[in-house]
Amino acid sequence: MHDIVIIGGGPGGYAAALYAFNFGLSVALIEKDRVGGTCLVRGCIPAKSWLETAAVFQTVARSSEFGVRSSEPEVDWSAALARKNKIVDGLVGGLSGLLKTRDVDMYAGFGRAVPGGAVVTSLDGSTTMLPAKATIIATGSVARSIPGYDIDGERIVTSRHALDWEQRPERVAIIGAGAIGAEFASMLADVGSEVHLLEALDQILPGMEPEAAKAVGRSFRKKRINVKTGVRVDPPRITAGGVMVPFGDTSVDVDVVLVAVGRAPVTEGVGLEEVGVSTERGFIPVDAETMETAVPGIYAVGDIVAGTPQLAHVGFSEALAAVTHIATGETAAVDYRAIPMIVYTHPEAASVGLTEAQAIEQGYDVEVTNHGMRAVGRAIIHGETGGVVKIVAQKDGPILGATVVDPLAGEVIHELMYSVGWEALPAEAAAFIHAHPTISEGIGETLLAAAGRPLH
Ligand code: NAD
Repeated sequence: MHDIVIIGGGPGGYAAALYAFNFGLSVALIEKDRVGGTCLVRGCIPAKSWLETAAVFQTVARSSEFGVRSSEPEVDWSAALARKNKIVDGLVGGLSGLLKTRDVDMYAGFGRAVPGGAVVTSLDGSTTMLPAKATIIATGSVARSIPGYDIDGERIVTSRHALDWEQRPERVAIIGAGAIGAEFASMLADVGSEVHLLEALDQILPGMEPEAAKAVGRSFRKKRINVKTGVRVDPPRITAGGVMVPFGDTSVDVDVVLVAVGRAPVTEGVGLEEVGVSTERGFIPVDAETMETAVPGIYAVGDIVAGTPQLAHVGFSEALAAVTHIATGETAAVDYRAIPMIVYTHPEAASVGLTEAQAIEQGYDVEVTNHGMRAVGRAIIHGETGGVVKIVAQKDGPILGATVVDPLAGEVIHELMYSVGWEALPAEAAAFIHAHPTISEGIGETLLAAAGRPLH
């Protein structure tokens, strides 16, 4: 009998397995594929590897701007793919080793919750019962599609296939301009593909501040991405040369369509009915303090949890909360107020806390400060002055949320994570000195302005 059986070895599941070691708990971890889950094997990590290839390509392509002569860059697609695979393999190997040193018992196969633990069905069809005192369900999510767009992995694909393309597609239509669609659009356009980005809502990166969407949109126009918002696509037509994607009274002809319209939780077939855990539109409701479902001893973490963002780092944090509760009975609730969200386009868009619209909706009287990166020395040196900083504070009160667009936004957003998490007043945060010259200085300037005493 294990203390915990975990179904799913992605960020939620493997973090739970690793963390349980701190409490001396025995753990069984069931994974049907490779440990690491979507994020490590076919999501965040490989996507960022491709984005890095695109960034290096662009740095070389623009080198003359910086006084460096170089020849025309070319993407060696198979070398870039091999590098991506090597990064993934290295991290999967490292994670497997770490799980071993933490004494986690690994079970390869398909896991299903049953009363008193879980059953694992291995590839050869044999089943093993794994009794446990607590069960953590961490089965993650899969890409959704839309009517008419049947994923065939060739002409109509999801991010999972696109990360393993063996050559650069010439012409791509991307449906959905959320994080996945925007990142692929940025990457593909940067390496020279023709990209059509088709979004149903009226802005790209819906949910992010409109100022951020506009700044990223400007960079997309420079990359010659054909961005269409407010678009409802009709079912595609497979043609001899590729795919035709109709929308409104027009259409685009492309080689491949990447569908990026969100991800659905994997909660069917994993034994939920059998153990009495109910779902809401496929997601599992949990106690926000402990991650325990309505069934005592059964926990859920990660992309399957109802009402929380589908982000690897949220999954990590939820895993820590679940394990802490199982081990000690105490709560270590996730602080959902200050979760950084980063879209790794070039430039990146990063946010934390509430947007202006969310703050108003929640009844706050808000004070908003916008600042551009145009005059920030480091941004000028980088040749990247299209960035923005936006800080949303309660009137005469703390910082509620912030957004940054810049190639380094995903790094510098973390100081604002503390500001939001610690409910700092703009004047308190502005009292600290930002080093000169840095991109963070753009945030310092915005904080000074938010505190009512701008400098530059
Ligand atoms: P998403 O929900 O972020 O974006 C989906 C987009 O598709 C939305 O903009 C939506 O309006 C649009 N859409 C839906 N139906 C459409 C239609 N019929 N036609 C055109 N557009 C349509 O989902 P995603 O980008 O697929 O990402 C899935 C999840 O993974 C998200 O929760 C996302 O936050 C997460 N993710 C995060 C990162 C990151 O943090 N960098 C990267 C990748 C994925």
